[in-house]
Amino acid sequence: MDDNTPADDRRTARDFDVEIDDVLDEDAEDDEDGLFDDLLRGEPIFENKEVLRPSYTPHELPHRNEQINNMATILVAALRGETPSNILIYGKTGTGKTASAKFVSQELEKTSRKYEVPCEVEYINCEVTDTQYRVLAQLANTFIQQNREFVDDRVDELEALAERARDDPHALDDTEFDSVEEVVERVDSLLDDREEMEDVPMTGWPTDRVYTEFFDAVDYVERVAVIMLDEIDKLVEKSGDDTLYNLSRMNSELDNSRVSIIGISNDLKFTDFLDPRVKSSLGEEEIVFPPYDANQLRDILEHRSETSFKADALSEDVLPLCAAFAAQEHGDARRALDLLRTAGELAERDQADIVTESHVRRAQDKIELDRVVEVVRTLPTQSKLVLYAILVLEKHGVHNINTGEVYNIYKRLCDEIDADVLTQRRVTDLISELDMLGIVNAVVVSKGRYGRTKEISLSVPVEETEAVLEADSRLGDVENVTPFVQARFDNE
Ligand code: ADP
Ligand code: MG
Repeated sequence: MDDNTPADDRRTARDFDVEIDDVLDEDAEDDEDGLFDDLLRGEPIFENKEVLRPSYTPHELPHRNEQINNMATILVAALRGETPSNILIYGKTGTGKTASAKFVSQELEKTSRKYEVPCEVEYINCEVTDTQYRVLAQLANTFIQQNREFVDDRVDELEALAERARDDPHALDDTEFDSVEEVVERVDSLLDDREEMEDVPMTGWPTDRVYTEFFDAVDYVERVAVIMLDEIDKLVEKSGDDTLYNLSRMNSELDNSRVSIIGISNDLKFTDFLDPRVKSSLGEEEIVFPPYDANQLRDILEHRSETSFKADALSEDVLPLCAAFAAQEHGDARRALDLLRTAGELAERDQADIVTESHVRRAQDKIELDRVVEVVRTLPTQSKLVLYAILVLEKHGVHNINTGEVYNIYKRLCDEIDADVLTQRRVTDLISELDMLGIVNAVVVSKGRYGRTKEISLSVPVEETEAVLEADSRLGDVENVTPFVQARFDNE
């Protein structure tokens, strides 16, 4: 134990040791079952659950050979000291873009170390780092940190060299230096540079200055820098294409280094919003990641389940079912892995010996419900009010709800909580949005000569939705809404 530990803490720790010993020696067998005993008793289902989490980067990516080889063929230029073409990677979520790109960059860096070619890959997730300032600052700081390490190593080398040269004049023969003084001068100049290498603050500077700082940091040593911008569509959506414009024209001004960009996008159409120059520069090479089909998902799950589950922990229909569900969900491998992990967790909670088909079905329901809850929770207040109006009507047994009915209840809810009242036109739009999110179902029906109307119904479970809506601080203030609903003739 650390000597600085206050005396009090030390005593507590010792008491604790004694208690554990007591338990083990005397009471172990006749102890009553505690909270965790039951849960511990079941055979564990998982061998290593981490392997199923999104943060894990697999070493093998079945059915992505073609895309991985394409990337490698383009990036190998970096190992020859040339500038690789920029690459744009497209594909829906869960098609293995991030996993493949990370795999390729790990291999690239590994090989570059082996052959001592200066090549680095910098990964940025633009969903998190979503402004030009922050992207540039993060890149600047990464390169500044590397430059510091470079200088430190170089200074150590040169100091050792100077030391040797003082005893042995031939020590400088194969070097760029003619005298010990020159070596010492170089060390001093490196140390001066080192002094100036300060991190860029994460806010507060003019963006130009951050860019210059980043530019100088990259160019400080000879290298090829591959900058990987994942979820690049989020960056463009939030902050426009300035960052990409600046990055894509850097090479013409860099002296020592070269920059190459890999952009990864979930949105196939995001280049429509780009400046044409950026678009052509960024899209020098394009690689598409198609959705997986059910068989491919099954292979992927088989690979991952070998190390994540205990042997024989899965009944034979589990993987095919997970694969089939995820294939319906646009071939999303993330969804397939989530399903498998959740099914395993449900089996564990049941203290079952194996995961079965029914665990997968329950996992599917649970994930779907979690999704709905999340979508509803993050709706804007006005949409929540519209949804609440529909929910109130459904709860009172009104079927085939029409827009006018929703609007009436909506207005009263707005009054109740002092919210702005939107026009019926806007409310109709919000209903369409809820329809697109899969929360309500709105079908247009023809009423003959009375024209067309919408029939609206809730497509999510009433209870859970109500709970999420009422958890909203504003909607929570709504008192009893029953009197709002007037009986309709067609329900009598
Ligand atoms: P994307 O970036 O296209 O949204 P990811 O690369 O994050 O998708 O993949 C989603 C999940 O599926 C990750 O956990 C990833 O490891 C896994 N995955 C995707 N493709 C494969 C594959 N071919 N083999 C093994 N795991 C995969
Ligand atoms: Mg991704």
